Amino acid sequence: MTGAAPVFVGSPVYRRAAYGANHPLAIPRVATVMDLCTILGWLDEGNFLASPPATIDQLARFHTRDYIGALRASEAAGAVEPEIRKRYNLGNRENPVFPGVFERAATAVGGSILAAKLALMHGIAYHPSGGTHHGRPDRASGFCYFNDPVFAILSFLDEGLKRVLYVDVDAHHGDGVQDGFAGDRRVFTISIHEEGRFPFSGPADDRGGGQACNFPVPRGFNDSELDYLMREAVLPLGGDFRPQAVVVTCGADGLAGDPLSRMELGNVALWRAVEQAIALAPAAVVLGGGGYNPWTVARCWTGLWGRLNGWPTDGVLPRAAQELLRGLDSDLVDEEDRPERWITHLGDEPNEGPVRDAVKALADAAPAARAATAARP
Ligand SMILES: [Zn+2]
Repeated sequence: MTGAAPVFVGSPVYRRAAYGANHPLAIPRVATVMDLCTILGWLDEGNFLASPPATIDQLARFHTRDYIGALRASEAAGAVEPEIRKRYNLGNRENPVFPGVFERAATAVGGSILAAKLALMHGIAYHPSGGTHHGRPDRASGFCYFNDPVFAILSFLDEGLKRVLYVDVDAHHGDGVQDGFAGDRRVFTISIHEEGRFPFSGPADDRGGGQACNFPVPRGFNDSELDYLMREAVLPLGGDFRPQAVVVTCGADGLAGDPLSRMELGNVALWRAVEQAIALAPAAVVLGGGGYNPWTVARCWTGLWGRLNGWPTDGVLPRAAQELLRGLDSDLVDEEDRPERWITHLGDEPNEGPVRDAVKALADAAPAARAATAARP
């Protein structure tokens, strides 16, 4: 693998059943993305790398050995003791302990470590299995057992970078990443997320001690509003930080049709926001994140890979790709709410609309954060 073309980091581990029945993440996500990309001729041994799982010692850079041990022991026992459940937030409906949970979570971390190294050589590394931004040092949170974005950032810092920007456009606040670098002036985190939703942190006045900026957006957040926030706040703020690398968590749960959020974005606007964010630095790791509608997730993350490579994403999909999408299913999305476009095209119709005052106010509050960022050495 040579040259500056983007690299896709994945693993066959994501083809295995996970999370058990009746969990929002029981749907296929990255396996479908890998298959769609292969059908489209966008993925082969020339641009794909399988990631190894992170080692215990690697995981212990951020996570406590007690917690790592508890996750492994619970999986081995096939049961979670009540005290462990309480202390580590494991073995409940939110963060079930299922066969393969440790390997799967550790592989996402290994993928983000690898992606950062590859980004320094290839410019862009794409790791859609990553984006577990709620993971805490000593407990699981919000379907996240470990926190792989933290490890992508740590890997950049280990390589000697002095300024790493984190941009999170998942529908939920990137709390674990923001808190993970509290007090580390080398990292600045920006999160756009739906207000009033899990984990209920990241209000507009939360500046993370001068190292973060948060944009809690209202329900119905549309493409025009995302474009506006990027142009008026996120890009100037990120640019002032003069990042040497960018890590983006591109959850697909802010898209219209996602059952766990009420943001209403079209995927083309999300792709554009990612492209704008990664243009701020010469190296970028692009991660996935949440996303609970199998059609919108697969189309978003497949199309994003196309866009990162500069390939056209707007034609009618070939028959094999349509059959794959038609074969998906979800208990959380009613059949009458599945437009035919989810089968025939990667890109959504744009969802343009008015830029509401609440969104303008978020951008207006950003200059104060800009001043703090720009004043740094
Ligand atoms: Zn999310």
